[in-house]
Amino acid sequence: MTSASAAELDAADPLATFRDAFELPQGIYLVGNSLGAMPKNARDYVNVEFDRWGSIGVEGHFSGELAWKSYHELLTKQLSSIVGANHDEVVAMNALTVNLHLMLISFYQPSQARHKILIESHAFPSDHFAAESQIRQRGLDPATSLIVLEPRPGEETLRPDDIYTAIAEHGHELALIMLPGVQYYTGQVLPMADITAAGHAVGAKVGFDLAHAVGNIELSLHDWDVDFAVWCSYKYLNSGPGAVAGVFVHQRHVADPVLPKLLGWWGTKPETRFQMDTVFDPIPTVESWQLSNAPILSMAALRASLDLFAAAGGVAALRKKSELQIAFFDRRLEETLAGRVENITPKALSERGCQYALRVTNGNGRATFEALEDERVFCDWRAPDVIRAAPVPLYNSFDDIDRFVAILDRIVL
Ligand SMILES: *Cc1c(COP(=O)(O)O)cnc(C)c1O
Repeated sequence: MTSASAAELDAADPLATFRDAFELPQGIYLVGNSLGAMPKNARDYVNVEFDRWGSIGVEGHFSGELAWKSYHELLTKQLSSIVGANHDEVVAMNALTVNLHLMLISFYQPSQARHKILIESHAFPSDHFAAESQIRQRGLDPATSLIVLEPRPGEETLRPDDIYTAIAEHGHELALIMLPGVQYYTGQVLPMADITAAGHAVGAKVGFDLAHAVGNIELSLHDWDVDFAVWCSYKYLNSGPGAVAGVFVHQRHVADPVLPKLLGWWGTKPETRFQMDTVFDPIPTVESWQLSNAPILSMAALRASLDLFAAAGGVAALRKKSELQIAFFDRRLEETLAGRVENITPKALSERGCQYALRVTNGNGRATFEALEDERVFCDWRAPDVIRAAPVPLYNSFDDIDRFVAILDRIVL
């Protein structure tokens, strides 16, 4: 394997044919970390709903296996297996930042003594804003209630030991830990099980933003005992721009009658919902967090993609391929671009998913990115100085990686 060519690796890849299940823009598409590629079957799944809408109209809510009133249930089984959860712990709803707010309403319960939220200094801006505004909503001040954990000076990624130290240090004042599963900028995977255990040991709740983790790395949210998690599905889950997001709430919380939550009619039991009375009769699962009837068209597209995940053997099979792609990508970078391009993503497989965070050492990162765009390489630029590129095992080939490295070699001085 160590010296195998891209052609040899593609020929030996049992998942190679899944590339044909996607419509890919012309060029090299390495930006599934931002917007996953379009599954061809998404058109069919969405068209089915257009046809139902056109032919039976409002009856589509109640009619047949695809009834819109329970459409979200069609996603639950596959989403649960992707995040490692029970079926009553996962629901597709809303958008990511909305779900983060809904979870903070429930799981951030500050008291005078215990009022702090721990996040990281490079948190995605939306996550930072959500935490800050929730703190203000409770009449508190982010200056004293928000702990922003930074990597050590001169380092890019958080050391797990520093996270545990911060948790222990703020111990009795810590209400909530909210960290990414995979950090969006560096691609670092955080040790979610250990962080959860450390948080629980001091009496804090622990939630994760899995925007860059879901569909990328293997997850076991239930067994890790995570309190809640949120994610979007337009990145590695390929559901299309702005499509429906997802939520995990651990089983021990889903039917908790005292947990605060924002309520809507879609959180009530379907049997009593349409009686239209005003007694909240919660579904005894995470579905009780649902507010509104569901965005069917984007859910149809997500179903299309989840069926491809299942056909490919799920995240475990995809991760197996991803690890081979990571080894190949590392080797090609080392052989070709050592000293000119560095990857700030951690080296150990347990600390990384498929995303690379590349830094051009001559300081011309932005110009390099623009040259890549001119070559129709799809990757992305993240200020201050990183080019993110993610070979996605479901549709990227080893050849994509090889050609990407060859182009970089040509354009980086
Ligand atoms: C992509 C991403 C978002 C985007 O939030 P939306 O509500 O979907 O617009 C938020 N947080 C993280 C960590 C992300 O990676």
